[in-house]
Amino acid sequence: MALIPFDDRDGTIWFDGKLIPWRDAKVHVLTHGLHYASVVFEGERAYSGHVFHTSEHSQRLHNSAKILGFEIPWSVAAIDQAKADTIAANKIVDGYVRPIAWRGSEMMGVSAQQSKIHLAIATWEWPSYFSPELRAKGIRLQFSKWRRPSPDTAPTQSKAAGLYMICTMSKHAAEQEGFQDALMLDWRGQVAEATGANIFFAIDGALHTPTPDCFLDGITRRTVMGLARDRQIKVIERAIMPDEMAKASECFLTGTAAEITPVGEIGPYRFTPGPITNRLWTDFQALVRKAPAKAA
Ligand code: PMP
Repeated sequence: MALIPFDDRDGTIWFDGKLIPWRDAKVHVLTHGLHYASVVFEGERAYSGHVFHTSEHSQRLHNSAKILGFEIPWSVAAIDQAKADTIAANKIVDGYVRPIAWRGSEMMGVSAQQSKIHLAIATWEWPSYFSPELRAKGIRLQFSKWRRPSPDTAPTQSKAAGLYMICTMSKHAAEQEGFQDALMLDWRGQVAEATGANIFFAIDGALHTPTPDCFLDGITRRTVMGLARDRQIKVIERAIMPDEMAKASECFLTGTAAEITPVGEIGPYRFTPGPITNRLWTDFQALVRKAPAKAA
């Protein structure tokens, strides 16, 4: 299938406060963000034209920038509105939303205190799609050779572009060997997450998930924990060592893009998507389609 490059599409992108033609949304090569990873971003989904947990995502974008030492010159409410305007302009029904903020070109060097902060928002049609085969068998994960860094090595609570360097390397390595994704351990050797999604295990009827102390505490992760508790499924956040996966009957990933993705295999461990994964998947689908409450 021929790829349609993301810089050569029809549509409208919100760029520093204005909706502009898609192909005009460009940055110069001498952009601090490109050279020094002074970039934060979000990944969001619109369901039936509404962004799921839009303000939480805008708030996280603000926090991510703050952790990297810069302030986004639009408020959370203004970013929410900009996303809604971008979705309307592109007539998106079920789609992905990608806000991104970065340091501009005023200074070129490690120090960039005077640089201007930019914000852009793009959105594209992206229905959620899972084949019955995937739902039944789950995806296959390889162990990554890269580990999530400790919070005193990198700004791990920021959704910062620089943290994705090892994610792309891990996912490429996995794909090249026929796997769909990679499981990353943390610097202590504990189970952390996949390359763009959090992880859960069903053990003896309860849900276990690693404590997010060196990786993103995903918005989908928290949503799914709430759904599980609503169903009286016990949720336990704790340190999980890889060999404990032998006790897990089910495993799934959560994330905006992944939604709830069943996992069938991680290295030598095997899981069968079952009642807990299916229950949460059904509840999640119902929740994301619920019309958001109108602001007073
Ligand atoms: N971890 C990583 C590395 C991610 O990229 C994502 C996706 N944003 C997540 C976890 C899940 O976060 P969320 O549920 O907020 O999308």
